[in-house]
Amino acid sequence: MDSRYWQEELETMPRPQLEALQMEKLKTAVARSMNSKFYKEFFGSKGLSEKSIDGLDDIQKFPFTTKDDLRDNWPFGLMATSVDECVRMHCTSGTTGNPAAVLYNRHDLDSWANLMARSMWSSGARPNDVFQNMSGYGLFTGGLGFQYGAEKLGMLTIPAAAGNSKRQIYLMQSFGTTAAHSVPSYLGRLYAVFQEMGLDPRKDTKLKRLFIGAEPHSEETRQRIQEMFGAKAYNSFGMTEMNGPGVAFECECQAGMHIWEDCYLIEIIDPDTLQRVPDGEWGEMVLTTLDRQAMPVIRYRTHDLTRIIPGDCACGRTHKRFDRIKGRTDDMFIVKGCNIFPIQIERVLMNFPEIGTDYLIELTNEQGDDMTVKAELKPELFTDNYPELESLKRKIASILRDTILVTPKIQLVPHGTLPKSEGKAKRVLDLRKQ
Ligand code: ADP
Ligand code: ZN
Repeated sequence: MDSRYWQEELETMPRPQLEALQMEKLKTAVARSMNSKFYKEFFGSKGLSEKSIDGLDDIQKFPFTTKDDLRDNWPFGLMATSVDECVRMHCTSGTTGNPAAVLYNRHDLDSWANLMARSMWSSGARPNDVFQNMSGYGLFTGGLGFQYGAEKLGMLTIPAAAGNSKRQIYLMQSFGTTAAHSVPSYLGRLYAVFQEMGLDPRKDTKLKRLFIGAEPHSEETRQRIQEMFGAKAYNSFGMTEMNGPGVAFECECQAGMHIWEDCYLIEIIDPDTLQRVPDGEWGEMVLTTLDRQAMPVIRYRTHDLTRIIPGDCACGRTHKRFDRIKGRTDDMFIVKGCNIFPIQIERVLMNFPEIGTDYLIELTNEQGDDMTVKAELKPELFTDNYPELESLKRKIASILRDTILVTPKIQLVPHGTLPKSEGKAKRVLDLRKQ
């Protein structure tokens, strides 16, 4: 019989038992971390060690680890073992300064692949699925992370990598792809190529489920993706510092992402006071690895804003769920004194059927504090004399004003004309002079 769970005992473990397991693993993780040059000094100088932990809440005695700590200690400063034992590294994109490197030993890679298999299984993927990974391979964790997880689950796995839409479609049709992974921003473009080729993914592919993640996206975007492809889209959360994907994933209920608490300890803090907030309240996610040997990371400030969803999930899994990421603390921008997240703008745009999936927010201060929202019109709509253009712009501007309290300029541009990136979409272009 096909089980609903990949590892039933762990996934449905009663909370007291799960927390006891976390406690035991937390002590081991802290002890191990202190084999690294960085944590030995960082915790040692404060008199902290695994002996400081008598209960899970004692983690709050420990200082936070930041991305700068990882960067400053590039490449081996947080390694808690020898290079001989490590078998892989990945790193963040590191557009400014050193990237953050992550090291894995054999155990870590097995554990990661298992979490990825568990994640995809929870959303309904099974060995008879054919899985196409449309994610960049190489240093980016979305490639190999999904690859090994999908193989472990037992799916025929196509390492298609990012881009080259015609080839993606050719592979999908040739092998009968039923499940695929991609950054959400790519899927709108892929859909447009289907259309150009006179194809409809709902009829001309066997796609049933899409795993979307690595960048913030709204519920409205998810709905669109589901409609375009006639498939269910599941939110996938991960970050390189925590392995990569497979940290948290939506189960078949699509009601928030279960964080795998046997491998990660989650805290939500107020980013200003740095104190914990209760379940249900929004704040910054702080994560601790509980199952990583080569490079444990303790109390890592992710800068991702979310909240724990209170209550139980209908799937029976006991691991907590967190809400769709609202953005990163550093994604927020200020215009005319108002704090704005790109996702607030995305939600408004995606409610207009005339608008495609790509948009760009441009900030300038040539005439004060200017904000222009550029959005692509659906291909069938853009003609120079599209009569509704002006009124559509006014409608968008007015709803945006009600949402973000600033009235932006709206520019509707032809489909395919905004700049595209192969990986994560860049949604804000800040051209303001400091
Ligand atoms: P890099 O640091 O090179 O951009 P990562 O892939 O490690 O690479 O990026 C991790 C970040 O991506 C997370 O901290 C978060 O901001 C974002 N992210 C990942 N998954 C999601 C998701 N499902 N929803 C929203 N944001 C996500
Ligand atoms: Zn669930």
